[in-house]
Amino acid sequence: MRKLLKKIKRWSSRTRILAVSNDDAEVWLSSLGLLDNLNENKISCLVCGSPINIDNWQLVSRVKGQIVMCCDDALCIARFAEVVREKNK
Ligand SMILES: [Zn+2]
Repeated sequence: MRKLLKKIKRWSSRTRILAVSNDDAEVWLSSLGLLDNLNENKISCLVCGSPINIDNWQLVSRVKGQIVMCCDDALCIARFAEVVREKNK
């Protein structure tokens, strides 16, 4: 657990898009303060604006210090990195 938290700290200080295993995902999202927001449908896909929940989120990144997420739509996944890059300009 301590090891995982260390990893999380390292992850959350990065700005790249991350890949997390299912087992670690809830702990990681919770550490970012995202789990409650996901459960309450407070987060939208950066690309299409659809509500994101614990079942349909796919990618996480940052735009100007703010955490952003992508839904599981194949088109959104394909465009996400580009949109993040554009918005960070
Ligand atoms: Zn989407």
